[in-house]
Amino acid sequence: MAIIVQKFGGTSLANAQKIRSAAKRVIKTVENGYGVVVVASARGKQTDRLIADALELNPNPPKREMDQLISTGEQQSVSLFAMALDAMGYDAISFTGGQIRMITDGAFTRAQIKSIDAKRIHSQLESGKIVIVAGFQGIDEQENITTLGRGGSDTTAVALAAALEAEQCEIYTDVDGIYTTDPRIFEDAVKMDQICYDEMLEMASLGASVMHIRAVGFGKRYNVKIHVRNSANENVGTIITSEESEMEGVVVTGATVQKDMAKIGLVGVDNVPGNAAKVFAHLAKAKVVVNDIIQTEISDEKANLSFMIGISDLDAAKQAVDEIRGEVNCEGVFIRDDIAEVSVVGVGMRTHYGVAEKMFGALAQARVNIDSITTSEIRISCAVDEDQATDALKAVCLAFDLDKPAQERTKG
Ligand code: ASP
Ligand code: MG
Repeated sequence: MAIIVQKFGGTSLANAQKIRSAAKRVIKTVENGYGVVVVASARGKQTDRLIADALELNPNPPKREMDQLISTGEQQSVSLFAMALDAMGYDAISFTGGQIRMITDGAFTRAQIKSIDAKRIHSQLESGKIVIVAGFQGIDEQENITTLGRGGSDTTAVALAAALEAEQCEIYTDVDGIYTTDPRIFEDAVKMDQICYDEMLEMASLGASVMHIRAVGFGKRYNVKIHVRNSANENVGTIITSEESEMEGVVVTGATVQKDMAKIGLVGVDNVPGNAAKVFAHLAKAKVVVNDIIQTEISDEKANLSFMIGISDLDAAKQAVDEIRGEVNCEGVFIRDDIAEVSVVGVGMRTHYGVAEKMFGALAQARVNIDSITTSEIRISCAVDEDQATDALKAVCLAFDLDKPAQERTKG
């Protein structure tokens, strides 16, 4: 029997009527001959409420107890979902992560999946049942309940789809799919029909928040076809899949903007082995997440070193840099806390030229100054003034026709 995994997010399960309509969708898939495994998130803002309850009693709750608590949100969803299906005359059975042996490591509140025992699910499906699994949770080797990090139900769903060798993993949410950019900032953004794993990973790490990044990683590793779509309508959403050759004709697939960034530059650091290692070891010890590192040699003796961070890490980073600057003989520290980063992403960049030129040209025309530039094989990012971030994103989107469906875009 072919299997489809259908994951419903919190907003798609917020009230009884929404659970019923999700259940109807499941039934339709069953009637089409599929074995269906549902993965459910906590309803509405339930996880936030549980966290607030915990913090009211203890500002620093033991992480094991936190997981014991916040996993209950999903447990409520799955049993209610099974009851709704039962009321509609369908046989369903719900499971917690532990009950299907979703084994994780012991890192409470951010556990990683190690293995899944698909046997119990297979045998339930074979007996004609619809299987409902609680997302976001597992158990460690000692049977402690663990959770996978906020938004982790997506990861449960894709991991299950991989373990069950499902035909596809449908992620039901409150938007129509993945957009070329954030439609709240650029209202002419269009929904993509398709995006490949690498592009989705890149966009997710640049702040596109539609899907849990680890879920995309799983999808890529096990080649799970992921379909992100709206639970409120029947529209086809966005398929996340492995790269296909015709996708390379599209040079830029999407654009992102990350606000709330800061930049630290160490000017005139001694140009000797080990200095970059010293600086970044110190930042790592301070638990600062660093991206976009740029180092350039400016003479035989000296180099400039700069990097971007999230604004929330700025104080910690400043302190770490102050502690280490003497050791690397740094002549000056330059800090900007009003930076945003605009990026374009697309696997087509691997084989097309002129992308950088087009992006920089669009920014120049919009009179946006580029502070620094970083690239990967499939991405170009420009740091710009935060108050120009929106204009910069719009200019870049228009330059790459991100207001048009992929088929209608001019090729680079
Ligand atoms: N309920 C969890 C959260 O809100 C997991 C999820 O929704 O995917 O983070
Ligand atoms: Mg959620």
